[in-house]
Amino acid sequence: MTFAVHGLPVARGIAIGRAVLVVSSRLDVAHYFIKPEEVETEIDRVRIARNAVAEELQKLQASVALMGPNDAPHELAALLEVHLMLLQDEVLTGGVKHWIVERLYNAEWALTTQLEVVARQFDEMEDEYLRERKADLEQVVERLLHRMKGTAAVLAPTPPRRKRTADDEDSDPTARDAIDAPLVLIAHDLSPADMLQFKKSVFAGFVTDVGGRTSHTAIVARSMDIPAVVGARSASQLVRQDDWVIIDGDAGVVIVDPSPIILAEYGFKQRQGDLERGRLARLRHKPAVTLDGQKVDLLANIEMPEDTLGAVKAGAVGVGLFRSEFLFMGREAQRLTRLPDEEEQYQAYRRAIEGMQGMPVTIRTIDVGADKPLDGKMVRDDESHLNPALGLRAIRWSLADPAMFLTQIRAILRAAAHGEILLLIPMLAHISEIRQTLALIDFARAELDNRGMVHGKVKLGAMIEVPAAALTLKIFLKHFDFLSIGTNDLIQYTLAIDRADESVAHLYDPAHPAVLRLVAETIAECRRQGKGVSVCGEMAGDVAFTRLLLGMGLRSFSMHPSQILAVKQEVLRADTSKLQAWTQQVLEADDPASLMTPAAAPQ
Ligand code: PEP
Ligand code: MG
Repeated sequence: MTFAVHGLPVARGIAIGRAVLVVSSRLDVAHYFIKPEEVETEIDRVRIARNAVAEELQKLQASVALMGPNDAPHELAALLEVHLMLLQDEVLTGGVKHWIVERLYNAEWALTTQLEVVARQFDEMEDEYLRERKADLEQVVERLLHRMKGTAAVLAPTPPRRKRTADDEDSDPTARDAIDAPLVLIAHDLSPADMLQFKKSVFAGFVTDVGGRTSHTAIVARSMDIPAVVGARSASQLVRQDDWVIIDGDAGVVIVDPSPIILAEYGFKQRQGDLERGRLARLRHKPAVTLDGQKVDLLANIEMPEDTLGAVKAGAVGVGLFRSEFLFMGREAQRLTRLPDEEEQYQAYRRAIEGMQGMPVTIRTIDVGADKPLDGKMVRDDESHLNPALGLRAIRWSLADPAMFLTQIRAILRAAAHGEILLLIPMLAHISEIRQTLALIDFARAELDNRGMVHGKVKLGAMIEVPAAALTLKIFLKHFDFLSIGTNDLIQYTLAIDRADESVAHLYDPAHPAVLRLVAETIAECRRQGKGVSVCGEMAGDVAFTRLLLGMGLRSFSMHPSQILAVKQEVLRADTSKLQAWTQQVLEADDPASLMTPAAAPQ
């Protein structure tokens, strides 16, 4: 039966494919694809864990048998028996094998996927006793996952698809479609680190139950340039493994089990989208200049040095934001037990510079905390804090760990010997933070000098992400060469709306008069003082804001490479001399959005 789930659109386009459910377990498990030649090893990992758990349960049974009825209730022996049965059950073992062999899931992913499949069957049972066995199954799977910890193979970057065999078509007439169909990912939540792994995969679209439009998970999804919907509440409960799903990333709708008519309609929309992309691709080599001759820099936001490839391809004239924290995330899945050291970071920054072929690269120092946690074991635990978005994140984190910060600064300064680097500091608000940061940068430079190591000059920039910073620009401009406006956080902190919380997503309003005034004032003050200014939050890649930002005087926009051509099209059609009066009206309006519709904005 066809039904739709509504969420928030984060990345445009239509994806049609079969659902791959990523189920959250109480144990944090890695999800990645293995190589075909690793199938046997992965099946062995499950078998070895199963034998170990069986032994563990049998030992427990033996010790229970030795206890008197007062020490061990007789239900305990029965329970252990049930766990042993579930452990050996063909539905579990055969199902796990199926996901490993057919889909090339790693063992942990296969286990949690099969747990989800069987748990749903338990949920549907009439008999209450049997329904309650779901909890036992969960415990058994958790024991297995515990056993498998530390035995994972190294992450395989691309998900090879299983070869179709003659049997497939004989056994099931729809098998051909099922195997060749694109896969779409459905999850309750995905951490930005998970997303980073999936970035290397072939998923055609994403849906998550939670998250806001500018949550970091949404940001990584957008950088993958595939249709995505977040905040779809109960999608992961309603969709089943292998369901056919349409993701409408423009409308924020997920259609499950679509009828042939709906499929045909969305297939048409999908082709229209492809044609539009083809048209935009022609703008790639065209310089971004407005009708009245204003040159505009369209820069790329990247998460990894390898993203520079897409940035250059999209016609970016530099990197306006390298979110360096992504180098520090998802390391456990790669069996890396430490944070990247100076040499590893230096090599990564250098790769980014080389990737940009002589164009400038803006590296932002590590911005972890809030919805970008590092792997739990490697760093101090941040979950105990009541409100992580207002807690120890970004520069606050760095200043709380000067050794880590100095390591990063040294790596960036060394990389600056190979090309133009701009060093950007996130989330500053206090003069004391500015002073400490600048002192640490000087210290890092002196350390390199003492070691006799080659390093380069960098321009220093601060992100304007907190209203306190936007209201004290003169202080910032005394100390920094340029400013970059992080609208994602500026909106969050100005409006007191958690950017990752879908329940308040309707109040997360980039066109709120307070936000627009802070952005406009920051641009104006930088221009008055002849300092560089750019916007690197999601607003920069949203074509609905291009004219307004141009009208405010902005000439440097940084966004995901996938958004560059659409924004360039807006730039090419704009005449900034006609935008100023309208921009002023928008800034003075009670409801700016009403003046920003295509009909109300000057053409
Ligand atoms: C921002 O806050 O707008 C920004 C670019 O930083 P991030 O999204 O990484 O917090
Ligand atoms: Mg930010």
